[in-house]
Amino acid sequence: MVTGPSGAGKGTLIQLVLPRFPDLAPAVSATTRPQRPGEEDGVHYHFLSPDDFQAKVEAGEFLEYVDYVGNRYGTLNSEIDRLRAAGKAPLLELETEGAQRVKRRDDHAVTIFVTAPVEELERRLRKRATESSGAIGERIETAKRQLELQGQFDYVVENDDRERAADALAAIITQELNGAATMAAQ
Ligand code: 5GP
Repeated sequence: MVTGPSGAGKGTLIQLVLPRFPDLAPAVSATTRPQRPGEEDGVHYHFLSPDDFQAKVEAGEFLEYVDYVGNRYGTLNSEIDRLRAAGKAPLLELETEGAQRVKRRDDHAVTIFVTAPVEELERRLRKRATESSGAIGERIETAKRQLELQGQFDYVVENDDRERAADALAAIITQELNGAATMAAQ
């Protein structure tokens, strides 16, 4: 699992390292947040209405889910099953609470915390500015709180330089895959 504050560059680093690991596949999360320009349903997220998301919660279809800055996000068990059936190790990208929850359920799951300097986080979140400014303020506050949790995860990758951080992430994944551990819940 790759976790860390929003704006740390988790998604970018994952995209940089994925081509190096044919056996690893990203799990597509479900969310109730509005689709951003350029995002595709079923590729970046499964975009669900609040009612559909709630129905799946009640049916026990989520490995984990959270409320995050006014929207809901979750990992569907079916998504993990689908990737495993295809012979892939699922790579999950989660905010910190969800990552901790999966780790509590499965101690073999590996957690990698991606961090960045606070000024950089703020700059990226403002640049991403697709939410209202209110949501951005909340995202920045949440990101600062999440930075303090980094000691609770298996690895920390500092995303100060993209290429260096991608190499560090790839080295961790190599080590863990070779150790026969999985990058996600069993
Ligand atoms: P964004 O709205 O920027 O795409 O995502 C907001 C945050 O939610 C990010 O930190 C992202 O990693 C996290 N996130 C995305 N999918 C999931 C999920 O399935 N579960 C949890 N717990 N967090 C998620």
